[in-house]
Amino acid sequence: MTGGARGLGAGIALGLAEAGADVTVVTTHSSSDDVVGQIQARGREAYTITADLSDESILQSVMDQAVQAMGRIDILVNNAGIIRRTPVADHAASDWHDVLDLNLNSVFFLSQYAGREMIKQGSGKIINIASMLTYQGGINVPGYTAAKHGVAGITKAMANEWASKGVNVNAIAPGYMATDNTAALRADEDRNKSILDRIPAGRWGRAEDLQGPVVFLASNASDYMHGHVLCVDGGWMNR
Ligand code: NAD
Repeated sequence: MTGGARGLGAGIALGLAEAGADVTVVTTHSSSDDVVGQIQARGREAYTITADLSDESILQSVMDQAVQAMGRIDILVNNAGIIRRTPVADHAASDWHDVLDLNLNSVFFLSQYAGREMIKQGSGKIINIASMLTYQGGINVPGYTAAKHGVAGITKAMANEWASKGVNVNAIAPGYMATDNTAALRADEDRNKSILDRIPAGRWGRAEDLQGPVVFLASNASDYMHGHVLCVDGGWMNR
């Protein structure tokens, strides 16, 4: 589970723990104690790996540490992500590369490394966190949009190759969720209102809203689903 110390990732980690999974939380924060304690309180084992996943050179070692800690890997959730908000004309090269390194490159390589383990086992579930910007262009977030479109692409590419090997690769596209990632939007009265006006459910999403869908995609109930991007968006995409 990447980026599991706060935000949507923390909710997902707790949902998986409640459903019976031991969880390794990979995070840049040293403060994952909260989530680790809550996972343990649910009777599951929890491990933390502190790592900057935008550094491609360490990703194999991160996967090796996780497999060593837990003995095997049955589920990988690629959730860690950042966003940089500047207009296309001003989007700095560093912002572009930082976002692509974490939000797309780490998803590809961690999935590749986990997938190799899962193919050996003959089973596994990979769940990538996509976005509404997997479908739409967004405003002021071109790197993020490119990465999230790419997440859908590699989800389908991997699913096609691994479906026959017992490995499911799917994605969840959350709608507009109340986390640090969207704090700037919620602080802007006009953007906040225009976003809320478009959500049929009439509210921002919460981390708990992802728990059921993630557990479903991590379970045998979704064994015949491959390369699907599941919207959990309060109805945003219908408008
Ligand atoms: P968040 O900022 O609250 O959490 C991001 C997580 O990623 C944190 O746990 C952080 O430690 C981790 N992280 C950041 N940089 C990292 C790095 N270099 N290495 C390792 N971990 C790193 O954001 P969030 O809203 O919880 O976002 C989680 C995922 O959901 C992201 O992929 C985001 O794009 C996606 N998403 C969020 C929303 C939303 O509305 N909040 C909507 C759609 C998709």
